[in-house]
Amino acid sequence: MAKALFLDRDGVINSDSGYTCKIEEFHFIDGIFDLCRLASSLGYLTIVATNQSGIGRGYFTEQEYQSLTRWMQDRFAAESAPLAAVYHCPYHPEGVGEYRRQSDWRKPAPGMLLQAARDFSLDLAASLLIGDSEHDIMAARAAGMGAAIRFADPARVISGADRIFAAHSEIAKWLKGFSSKE
Ligand SMILES: [Mg+2]
Repeated sequence: MAKALFLDRDGVINSDSGYTCKIEEFHFIDGIFDLCRLASSLGYLTIVATNQSGIGRGYFTEQEYQSLTRWMQDRFAAESAPLAAVYHCPYHPEGVGEYRRQSDWRKPAPGMLLQAARDFSLDLAASLLIGDSEHDIMAARAAGMGAAIRFADPARVISGADRIFAAHSEIAKWLKGFSSKE
């Protein structure tokens, strides 16, 4: 079975500017490409799972989101760290029109992670997730992920995560050890 490195987007791949929807607002966080290249070399698929309630709230359109996503995927590919897939949840209980609803894809629910597991025949116990929100950690737990990593300042958060790291370079060091235990 395959294994995956799951990434939240805002606050993990790019600095979270709040409902990021434009290329000029999208700033990659230091070390993300190095981390993904390492993960790839260790046999992990890299999969993004991101709540995008900005679509549901009407702040930007599905087309604008998809356009930014294609650009992001091209950047990862150009860095030799290709993304296997990007899942997103546009729904929100306070969304507008068809987007106003609960969704089991919206983290902290694990729907996106479970869908990816079906799509790629993943061993989730051998997979891991990196998120900057406790909702990411809850989704990882609910999916039975092998490790849930909170991307945050360890001195400033209380988290149910397995590990808390403030830099992608630190996650990379840890990942080598985690991977070798499989
Ligand atoms: Mg986030």
